[in-house]
Formats: sequence, structure tokens, C-alpha cells
Amino acid sequence: MEVLRQPMEDGRVRISRASGTVEFPSRFMLVAAMNPCPCGYFGSKVRECHCTPNRISSYRSRISGPILDRIDLLINVPQIPLEQMVAGNTGLTSRDVRELVEKARQIQLHRNPGANAWISETQLKTVCRMEPDAETLLLTASRKMSLSSRSFNRVLKVARTIADLEQLEKIEAPHIAEALQYKISDFFESGITYD
Ligand SMILES: [Zn+2]
Repeated sequence: MEVLRQPMEDGRVRISRASGTVEFPSRFMLVAAMNPCPCGYFGSKVRECHCTPNRISSYRSRISGPILDRIDLLINVPQIPLEQMVAGNTGLTSRDVRELVEKARQIQLHRNPGANAWISETQLKTVCRMEPDAETLLLTASRKMSLSSRSFNRVLKVARTIADLEQLEKIEAPHIAEALQYKISDFFESGITYD
């Protein structure tokens, strides 16, 4: 899993052999899922988990800090109660979401050379312009959460995307707050107190 670090970061993969080194383009979207514990029922309201705290910690530590640092959106997905599944979905339809995403992408491609994920460090300041309170929030939270500079930049890009979904020119404090939320995972950070 650790060899994914470089392509996740650079969008390129380098292969070195005795005869030389070759480089290939490798821009992909990583979507991954894992169970909360080896048995899969930790935090479940339906079945009891019988894993020991030690087993749970060692299971979760298989995902290293550097890999987590490169994942922008960490989301806990609780089990959906049966009644709710039967009642049906009242949220946005896939078609609604698609429309929003397409509009946001158009905004991005019009403004940047590519999608927000690939904004370079030199472009970051001009592309990700923030309202003053958004900037204060990002700086304060980053210090409190001891975010790495990589994470800081990634939070900013996610906030830029959330603002694009709302078709706003400047990033506002609620966009930063939402982006920060995706970076905090109770699941990994507070160990086994997650409920
Ligand atoms: Zn378990």
C-alpha cells in the first residue's frame, strides 16, 4: 500500500530497473473502504463486536499516517436502519448531484489548468482565495490539529471544490469547516472510542 504514496501525490509512477528508469502518467481517484474492526461490528447498534482493543488498534494501524495524510475525505458510514431503507431516499437524486458536479467542474476547468486536486502550490494562493474569516479559521484549526503542510493544502483545495459546488468565487468559513470535518476521522484519531 505504501508504494501508492508517490502516484497519489504526483500523478506519476516511476519504475526503476537495472536497465533504466521509466515514468508513466498515473492520475487516479482512490476510493477505499474498510471495516471498523476485524469482525466488522464495532459501533454497530445491531450486533455486538467481540474484538479486543488491541486487535482493533493493530487492525486500524495497517493504514499508515502518510497514506491517511493523502486521503482528502474520510467518512464514517453507519449502517442504515431497515425502516429508513424501506421508506426510501428523500435526499438529492444521482441526476441532481451529477448536474452540480458538472457545473463545478466547468468552473474549475475554466479557472485552473485542471481539476482542483491538481492545483499546484504556486497557483494555490490565486485560485483558492478566501474571505478573511475563512483564512483565520483555517489557520487556527490547522495549528490545533497539527496539520501537515500537505494536509493544509489539501483542505484548502477541498474547500475550493465545496465553494465551486455553490458557484461562489471566494472560499467562505463554512466551506473550510466542512473540508476540515472530512479530514478529522474519529475512527483513526481517537482509537477505539468511536461510536
Ligand atoms: Zn469487532
